[in-house]
Amino acid sequence: MSLEGAYEHDNIFAKILRGELPCAKVFEDAHVFAFMDVFPQSKGHVLVVSKTSRARNLLEIEPQALQLLILGVQRVTRATQAALQPDGLTVTQFNGAEAGQTVFHLHFHIIPNYAGVAVGRHAQGGMADAGELAQLAKAIAAQIS
Ligand code: 5GP
Repeated sequence: MSLEGAYEHDNIFAKILRGELPCAKVFEDAHVFAFMDVFPQSKGHVLVVSKTSRARNLLEIEPQALQLLILGVQRVTRATQAALQPDGLTVTQFNGAEAGQTVFHLHFHIIPNYAGVAVGRHAQGGMADAGELAQLAKAIAAQIS
């Protein structure tokens, strides 16, 4: 999908937000929703989305929604650091298929980096074990402040 186009209400993250698809939830408030990436690039890979905006990418999101989203990203990044003690954290997002975006509801990736452990390739990893994702989600959620 190019940068131009309309928001598709049946994208995977919209379905997760509506409760139509399962996920390992980490955190939610009135504005943001965080859950484990089911094809993680590293242990503890979390996605954070806006619950209110229908922006497909960073270019489209309303300023107020972006403020609330990025504050949520910081909060979950801090919790991930506290829970998993990685050596670094990559926070990223992609805009348009050409950039590598595969789900067209704006989201930020929080990818922990561990010394000596290579990060998996974007959108090319295997599916994680659901029980392990639930454990990670619980550990990160416990550190949300
Ligand atoms: P993008 O490629 O759009 O930046 O990121 C989409 C992310 O969503 C990818 O990292 C991919 O692993 C993840 N993903 C794809 N399908 C699902 C799903 O059904 N559940 C969850 N939790 N993550 C998904």
